[in-house]
Amino acid sequence: MSYQSIRQIRDDLAAKKISSLEITRSYLERIKALEPKLNAFISLTEEQALQQAQAADQLIADGNAGLLTGVPIAHKDIFCTKGVRTSCASHMLDSFVSPYDATLVQNMAQAGVVMLGKTNMDEFAMGSSNETSWYGPVKNPWDTDRVPGGSSGGSAAAVAARMVPGATATDTGGSIRQPASLCGVTGLKPTYGRVSRYGMIAFASSLDQAGPIAPSAEDCALLLEAMAGFDPLDSTSVDRPVPAYSQQLEQPLEGKKLGLPKEYFAGGVSAELEPVIEAALKEFEQAGAELVEISLPNADLAIPTYYVVAPAECSTNLSRFDGVRYGHRCDNPRDLEDMYSRSRGEGFGDEVKRRILVGTFVLSSGFYDAYYRQAQKIRRLIKQDFVSAFEQVDFVVSPSALSTAFRFGEKTADPVEMYREDLYTIPANLAGLPALSLPCGQINNLPVGLQLVGNYFCESQLLSAAHQYQQRTDWHLKLPQVNGESL
Ligand code: GLN
Repeated sequence: MSYQSIRQIRDDLAAKKISSLEITRSYLERIKALEPKLNAFISLTEEQALQQAQAADQLIADGNAGLLTGVPIAHKDIFCTKGVRTSCASHMLDSFVSPYDATLVQNMAQAGVVMLGKTNMDEFAMGSSNETSWYGPVKNPWDTDRVPGGSSGGSAAAVAARMVPGATATDTGGSIRQPASLCGVTGLKPTYGRVSRYGMIAFASSLDQAGPIAPSAEDCALLLEAMAGFDPLDSTSVDRPVPAYSQQLEQPLEGKKLGLPKEYFAGGVSAELEPVIEAALKEFEQAGAELVEISLPNADLAIPTYYVVAPAECSTNLSRFDGVRYGHRCDNPRDLEDMYSRSRGEGFGDEVKRRILVGTFVLSSGFYDAYYRQAQKIRRLIKQDFVSAFEQVDFVVSPSALSTAFRFGEKTADPVEMYREDLYTIPANLAGLPALSLPCGQINNLPVGLQLVGNYFCESQLLSAAHQYQQRTDWHLKLPQVNGESL
């Protein structure tokens, strides 16, 4: 049995063609078969999943099914899950079992999902290749010598390999969209404040946002509908009704304006990506959309700005992992100082330490004005660029990532090279805007993603535009082939 979409699973469950228990078992089997090759999971929650599936079947039998009753999914291991290890892919939290559920986890449980497990990721969501995970890197299902992207590489790879029909993820600078792009699946980072951050382990609080990864925009719409909503436990959560995204996918592309930032397109996007992106844009045009040149004058400042703001916030957020309040504690500390420094020294990996050091530096007295305050000002300018752009167009378009999936080790020697991966994705986080990546072609059997950025709270328009494109194309239906065979 093989399912291509959450929509289809829902329909078959509702028609009682299959039970949640059968579906859950078959996905668990697939996970076990592929996990040795891909390492997409940190924890499997098999027993719990089978119980949830049974309960879901009962609800369906009683006519009480909700939006996603009986549909199996996986959560990124950054979301607190009650009674289940929540590691954030760090040695620091290797033995942390959360005493409560994140709001997103609760909302999705309410909608009826069955959780199969927790997906692998970059440590504390810092990275673009999944190589910083304490549990080892996730492999890209399209070519296991290559990275799946990061930090939500486990969620993206698991969906691409159909180990799960959908997964949750988070995006601080691109961590939903870049792995979705590299793995050939669809991913949406919602507007900042659309989905509660309560119980989602914080990296950079003013940028972090949770969202779905699934094969199609239609499936992302179903997942977002289940996870979004106001939460009094998150002071940045926005009190706005959640639209029925999955029922608003038929907004015509006719007359929609797609803005192409000249800062990205004037010299042509990379020679490698050019033909694929061109073809995707042509498809949108044929569907009636109009391409308009726009300008994001401060686009080139996005990466340096992000790499001041994000480390600053991470250095503050990660101070709670001290071996006392949370996290790994070293053996036989000599005194308090020794305990802090050895616990943190042993618990965190190199990339996390680098960010904490940079963050502490840019916030320290004497440097705060030169770096942090300056970065906040530029952040405002970047946001303003988008506000002006949305006076002219409906969406801002670009590739999602710099290239197709790269090889392990290719970018680890030079952190700045790795940081450049998020060139196209970071601006939406700095501005707090919703943005989506959809598969739009392939180069040498490796997927390419197209990014659409929308105006604030225009998730419905984004999902619909992507859905319309996916009605006309089949890139989102392609499955990874290894040596000419399906995984
Ligand atoms: N790759 C970026 C970073 O390393 C973004 C990560 C993310 O979105 N969580 O910070």
